[in-house]
Formats: sequence, structure tokens, C-alpha cells
Amino acid sequence: GGNLVLVFGDQLDLDSAAFDDFEPSRDVVLQMEVMEETSYIPQHKKRIAYFLASMRHFRNELAARGRRVHYVEIDAPENTGRFETEIARAQRMFRPSRTIAVEPGDWRVVEKLRRLVRPPELRSDRHFLCSRDEFATFSERHPRPVLETFYRTMRRKTGLLMDGEGRPIGGAWNFDVENRKSFGKSSPSLPSRPSNAPDTITAEVLRLVALRFADSPGKLGDFDFPVTRTQALTQLDDFVANRLPLFGTYQDAMRADEPFLYHSLLSGPLNLHQLRPLEVVQSALQSTSAPLNALEGFLRQIIGWREFVRGIYWQRMPQYAEANALGAELPMPRFYWTGETEMRCLAEAIGHTIDHAYAHHIERLMVLGLFAMLLGVRPYDVHRWHMSMFWDAIDWVSLPNTLGMSQHGDGGIVGTKPYAASGNYINRMSDHCRHCRFDPKQAIGENACPFTTLYWNFLDKHRKRFTSNGRMKNQYANLDRKDASELRAIRRQAAKMMDAAT
Ligand code: FAD
Ligand code: SF4
Repeated sequence: GGNLVLVFGDQLDLDSAAFDDFEPSRDVVLQMEVMEETSYIPQHKKRIAYFLASMRHFRNELAARGRRVHYVEIDAPENTGRFETEIARAQRMFRPSRTIAVEPGDWRVVEKLRRLVRPPELRSDRHFLCSRDEFATFSERHPRPVLETFYRTMRRKTGLLMDGEGRPIGGAWNFDVENRKSFGKSSPSLPSRPSNAPDTITAEVLRLVALRFADSPGKLGDFDFPVTRTQALTQLDDFVANRLPLFGTYQDAMRADEPFLYHSLLSGPLNLHQLRPLEVVQSALQSTSAPLNALEGFLRQIIGWREFVRGIYWQRMPQYAEANALGAELPMPRFYWTGETEMRCLAEAIGHTIDHAYAHHIERLMVLGLFAMLLGVRPYDVHRWHMSMFWDAIDWVSLPNTLGMSQHGDGGIVGTKPYAASGNYINRMSDHCRHCRFDPKQAIGENACPFTTLYWNFLDKHRKRFTSNGRMKNQYANLDRKDASELRAIRRQAAKMMDAAT
């Protein structure tokens, strides 16, 4: 027999290594929609629809190129609902001489494949700019790797935004100080987005999800994600032409009713491998209108952060998932599923998530993640919630970002200090506090902002761990200015909030 080539939902790349020796007259592709992947945690309706619609479009692209596909739809009567059993069933059906796959993006799935009676040959994933071996070499040289060092190594390796003599263009590696503007009334009006109206394939998926996943979280209406490479390329071009110039400036801004601002919405197509990171950054760097702070900011996210968190994930799994450095044990507050809270900033960010399966980076980090960390929610539970709710969440990228960067659950591997802040940060970067019943400046009393109360309590509670961290010196200097009675009142009020949240 020929070969059986497995293609998972996050591997929708016609040029993936799985197809390197593909022989159309002999080989067959297996794509599986399995119930287990949509139910091991509850999942946002838009997220399910996004994956299924993208997979079905990819099936048609394979077929159009003469590659035979055995596609198991989610409600096919013979579908056993799990990867393991579906692969075994296809192996019985096709009797392949070899089963081939590119390494999946989830440690749990890799383990499943390894346990098969006839495990597939796993090929390394060429999608990424830094292979797992290269990351291993990098971390031998830098036993405590930090993003900045990794990012500079990647800039040198790719030559992107470099002057040819090993120096960064513009004379600096980082322009973050120019990237902290809030988005206000006098800011420019936002460009409109290209629409990705559902075609017949997507429309059928939407009907199926509405029927079969009626109890899943999130809204399905106004589904508008790009589900093909062609649509993703259009989204990329539009971003480069219309949003990239101000991407850096407003990268950290938050605004009620504006979930997308100048962000690219490219994480989905990148993570499903419809777009390659190199083509995305090359296209950005061809912009004639984007200033250096925008180009550098965007490049850093894609060749820096995105590759860095992947390196950490594969290097440290499975122990990484268990990490809980701050001993946080509370469950996820229930309002994360509904948005029903008086805290405006959280209501907005959760609302964006429920409506769009999307929230931008600062909402994820400095509102959704921050509150969970200050309250003391179990980091893995925050990650599970994140996996449930976001279109772009795959284990390799969600876990280090959520458990690591946003919860400091890894004790300082992804970031060297916790992203701890009070309501004052949110007030500076958004218009939420003006419409909120709480006051970001107050830590005690009826109108105290819960972020602010919990922020001081967090610093106080973890003093031993963080007081010698040079990057937190100012924060502790401010805490030390509080007198004993104020601190006692903060602790009392924080304890009440923690009780109320569970
Ligand atoms: P833009 O703001 O337009 O950024 C451009 C691109 O840079 C993104 O598309 C993405 O590919 C990349 N990028 C930026 N920051 C990161 C980062 N920290 N890690 C990896 N890639 C990055 N991103 C995911 O793709 N999947 C996740 O599951 C995910 N979980 C996150 C969880 C938390 C708690 C936090 C704080 C961040 C998470 N991120 C995740 C990173 C980032 O928030 C999203 O990539 C971004 O918001 C996606 O929207 P965008 O495409 O409009 O991004
Ligand atoms: Fe959020 Fe506090 Fe501002 Fe209200 S006052 S919006 S809770 S930061």
C-alpha cells in the first residue's frame, strides 16, 4: 500500500513536511473531525466553527490538487470520535505501508500518537523559524533564556530589519516607549475591515455548530473569520496597508466597543498554518508607510514571542502544565463565562471574547489574566478557560502565554517578573474606568477598584518572592509607603473579594 498522511486541524499547509514525498496515485490524506477535541473542554461556538470550516476548505484545496482525502466529518455515523480510534480505523481500511504526520501542536496529542499500535512517523514542523533543536542549542548557551536575547538571535539569524553588519536598523532593538499611546476621542478613525462572508461550506458548518453545540459558550452570529489561505492573505494585505502604520502606537490601547483597534487578527491563520510567519513579516517589512516602531513591534511579536513561547513549551512539557509557583488555588470566577460583573474593564474584555472568540493582547494580559492572577486563580484553570474561548488557542501557544506570562505560574520562565498592576494602569490605557462604578485610585472602601485592592495585596502576600527582583523595586517602594493600618484594611478587603469570587 501507499502512505497514510495525517493532517490535524492546525496543520492546514499544502507545503507541509507531511507532503514531501506524497505520491497522488498511491497515498491518501486523513483529516478527522473528532468529538473529543470539541468536548474535552467546553468550546466557544465560533472556535469550533472556525476549525471545522478551515479544515473542510482545506480538504477541497487538497482535492483540487489531486490529493486523495479520506475526510471524517463530525456527525458521520461511523466516526468513533477520537484520534486514536479514527487513525486505527483508517489504517485497517487503507493498510498503508507507512503512516506520516507532522508533529502536532499539543503535547497531549503527541502522546496519543505515540501510544498507537502503529504510531506515525513524526516529522518536524517547518512552519516555525526556530526548530526545536535550534531552541535547545540556544538554551544551552543561555540556561535562563529571556525573550530579548532570543529575539536578537532571531533578528541576526533572519537578517530582518538588520543593516547587514550585525546592527539593528534604526540603531535600537526596541521602540516600546513609542508604543504606549491610549486610543482617545481625538485619535484617528479606524479603517474598516475586509469581510469574510460565509460561503456554502462555512454556512453548513455554522448550521451544524448551532445544532450540535447549542450549549457551548460564546456567540456564533456574525462569523467572519478567514477560513482559507486566500482569505488570510487578503487579511494580511489589508492589515499591512491600513493598520500596520499605527499598530505600534496603539498596541497597548483598550477601548470600549472596539475589540480589534489596529491589531492584525492573524493569529488564527498563523496557528492553523494557512500563513507562514516569514511571509507575514516580509510582507509587513515591504510597507512604505509604516514607521520603524510599528515594523519592529510587529516583528518582535512574530519572530520573537511566538517562536520563544513555542520553544519553552516543547522544552518543558509535560511538567510545565503543572507549574503553580505562586500556589494559586482558587477556581475561575463564574463571571468569566458570562461577563456579568460590575467591573467595566472585565465586562468589556469578556464581552469581546464571548462575541468574537477574540480579545487583543493587552486585554488578555492586563485585564483578563491580571485579575485572575491578583485574585489567585489556579494557572492551569485560566489556561483551560483560554483554550475554551479563543479562536487562536492551541496548547503550545496558550499555555506559556497564560500559565506563564499572564499568571507567573512558571515562576519566571516566560517573563522575569509578574505582570502585576493596579486599576491605574487600566485607567491610563482605556476609557473603561470612566464608566465604571469603582474608582481605580481607591484600594479600600465601598468604591475601591478590585484590581487596586488585589494589586497591593498581591505585592504584600508575595513580598518574600519578589522583593529582591530589581525590576519590581519601584512597586515595593510604593507598597512600603503604606502605613500598617491601611495595609491591614487592604488585606481584609482582598480576603473578602477572594471569598466572594468562589
Ligand atoms: P497582533 O496584536 O496583531 O499581533 C501580531 C501577531 O503576533 C499575532 O497574530 C501573533 O501571531 C503574534 N503574537 C503576538 N504576541 C504573541 C505572543 N505573546 N505569543 C505568541 N504569538 C504572539 N496567541 C495565540 O496565537 N494563541 C493563544 O492561544 C494565545 N494565548 C494568549 C493568552 C494570554 C493570556 C496572552 C496574554 C496572550 C496570548 N496570545 C496567544 C498572544 C497574543 O495575545 C495573541 O497572539 C494576539 O492577541 C492575537 O491577535 P492578533 O492576531 O490580532 O495579534
Ligand atoms: Fe476596571 Fe477598576 Fe477601572 Fe473599574 S475602576 S474599569 S474595575 S480598573
